[in-house]
Amino acid sequence: MLSQVIDLIEKHERFGITSHIRPDGDSLGSSLALCWILRGLKKDAEVIMCDQVPQAYAKLPGAENVRVVPDVDRDYDAVFVIECSDVSRPGLPGLKDQFVVNIDHHSTTELFGDVNWIDSTAAAVGEMIYNLAKAIGARITPELASCVYAALLTDTGSFHFSNTTERTFKIASELVRHGAQPAKLSQAIFYSYPYAKVRLIGEVLSTLERDETGRIAWIRMSKKAMEETGASEDDSDGIINYPLTVGDVEAVAFFRELSNSTYRISLRSKNRVNVARVAEHFGGGGHCNAAGFTVSADFNELSRAVIDELREAIASAPVVNGREIKPR
Ligand code: 5GP
Ligand code: MN
Repeated sequence: MLSQVIDLIEKHERFGITSHIRPDGDSLGSSLALCWILRGLKKDAEVIMCDQVPQAYAKLPGAENVRVVPDVDRDYDAVFVIECSDVSRPGLPGLKDQFVVNIDHHSTTELFGDVNWIDSTAAAVGEMIYNLAKAIGARITPELASCVYAALLTDTGSFHFSNTTERTFKIASELVRHGAQPAKLSQAIFYSYPYAKVRLIGEVLSTLERDETGRIAWIRMSKKAMEETGASEDDSDGIINYPLTVGDVEAVAFFRELSNSTYRISLRSKNRVNVARVAEHFGGGGHCNAAGFTVSADFNELSRAVIDELREAIASAPVVNGREIKPR
């Protein structure tokens, strides 16, 4: 919990901070923000990741200092593991030998840390890090404010998702007061795409299908589509939101081909359709409205199984707007 985290920071000097493979806005924004807090307190702190910082987040203050490493290669008093469901998610095997502080806002997370601070009411881990900054008496610099703002902005889907609350706007307002620049951050994150990404969006959206109810849609990204457009795997981030813009669609699956017969699946939903349960069924996890997993399987069998599970998730969701599943 928070008091243990504060106590730990006050009593120690040397900290590592890491997050999950393929870091996103919350994992990077929160990790960098925590690094700014610790350095502001004159601690020895650094962010280490197994993957490069994606281009969308390269302009976040401090992103240039993220050290990309295949494993933990220094001794720390403690390593903060941000936004990870289990200790293997950062892709750094040596973490298991470190004193680990698990900070997360997923309800499905394992309590793998020596200290665990989990708040599933937080819209983003960024919110928690901001609370920590205030509780420990850190100065809220423009750098720190910008990193937390990026975390909030991305994990709330630009303040569209249901995790957006009064508290989110209150924090966002304080961050802007402390120097976060909303337009500049949005521009860097959402209006700086490589050309190849937009071409990839076109390719992937051309695979769009839906089931007979019109409430489940899915898209697929082949390795060929990536090769032909010259896009990277990171460029596929965000595409899943397009099928969800269809009024009737309540659940979306995005199948990305990683290698022959290995797929990374992202799931999204609206309202109270719980896709975290679906992801868990296949060995992954996430939130009610955003989840994912990776499996080796035959595509046709896999897609059928995922669609069946999504149908189940819709059927067992509390009824919203009086709608029930019926054929189109
Ligand atoms: P995305 O679809 O953007 O990769 O992930 C959406 C959400 O699902 C994130 O909150 C992420 O942590 C979770 N998630 C995605 N893939 C996995 C996975 O393989 N395992 C677990 N536990 N969570 C995942
Ligand atoms: Mn998050």
